[in-house]
Amino acid sequence: MTKPLLPPALLSRSPLLNAAGTFTPVGVSRSSPAVAEAAAWALQRYLVIDELQDLASRELADFSGAAAGTVVHCAAAGITLGVAAAMAGSDPARIAQLPDAEGLRRVVVVPAPHLIDYGHPLATDVRLAGATVQACGRPERCTGDELLPALAAPEVACLLLVSSRLTRDPAFDFPAACEAARAAGVPVLIDGAAQDLRVRELMAQQPAALVLSAQKYLAAPTAGLVVGEAGFIDAVRAQHKGIGRAMKASKEAIVGVLAALAERRGLDLPSWGARQAQKAQQAVDALRGLRGVEVTLVPDPLGAPFPRVRLRFADGANEARRVAQALKRQDPPVWVMEHAVHEGVLTLELVALRADEVDAVVDALRRCAA
Ligand SMILES: *Cc1c(COP(=O)(O)O)cnc(C)c1O
Repeated sequence: MTKPLLPPALLSRSPLLNAAGTFTPVGVSRSSPAVAEAAAWALQRYLVIDELQDLASRELADFSGAAAGTVVHCAAAGITLGVAAAMAGSDPARIAQLPDAEGLRRVVVVPAPHLIDYGHPLATDVRLAGATVQACGRPERCTGDELLPALAAPEVACLLLVSSRLTRDPAFDFPAACEAARAAGVPVLIDGAAQDLRVRELMAQQPAALVLSAQKYLAAPTAGLVVGEAGFIDAVRAQHKGIGRAMKASKEAIVGVLAALAERRGLDLPSWGARQAQKAQQAVDALRGLRGVEVTLVPDPLGAPFPRVRLRFADGANEARRVAQALKRQDPPVWVMEHAVHEGVLTLELVALRADEVDAVVDALRRCAA
């Protein structure tokens, strides 16, 4: 590849080592050369976007088992456009009216434990369409008895469910909630942004639409994937004549997604999973014996096919915080998951790293935790 035309300050920097997972503040993922080439190919020609989206719909259907799909700017945009589709359908006058929701079904029912903050509040995605959020249950728990009556109100546009390790109610009955919404004639929208490895499992709940991030484990350019019922996906696409203009996918994103889907089709998931487990074990073995740190392998709470490495610091939150900051000042800088730092815990997600990079992360930790 020719040297990119970029400021020297950017080119001279050591590439960051990301053990923080598909984390937006560090650029989420690294695309393969094939995906990068596909995006570059698209950037150098004109393409008919509607034809690209038709093609993407067929490929996304093949990937997910849904009837149809479409590519939007990102998963957050997909949630907003899914809510807009539930409110306005494909009706041009209603689409033009949004985000003014006067006279439309505008209430989005969400279990309170699903109102997560993944960098901004999920509720903001809903409110951007002109809808209002009705939270059900308490922040840590939502039962069927709390959810079901809410679905019966006439102004309900859809039920929004989130499949994420950030949700706070592990006992929440997903299938029962989807079933009840179907019985009430309420479309279900699932935010499964980081769950592309579990796409078929989530589609088995038969939502009107499931939203995914293409830039997370698929490692495509930034894009949101909305897959689901054909009529509902048509309505999502139709929003581009309204609020969706500000949330459209670029041609390079759509083409990059097509390449990433082709790569995923060729992936042998069991041996991929075995490689992930091997890297995690490599880190656990190398970090065992680090003074004041308890090192354990933890499975993904939702059943994604890879484990993470948990580091529990005997000296607590301040020590964990100090180590996380010191890691970022290393050369190369190392980023780790800090969601549980207040409990004295740092977590390593190694999916994005090669084995030699796992060694480099381990070395940095040995330097910083000493
Ligand atoms: C990452 C994430 C999002 C946002 O995805 P973007 O593609 O960055 O908009 C939304 N919901 C959940 C659960 C996420 O993990």
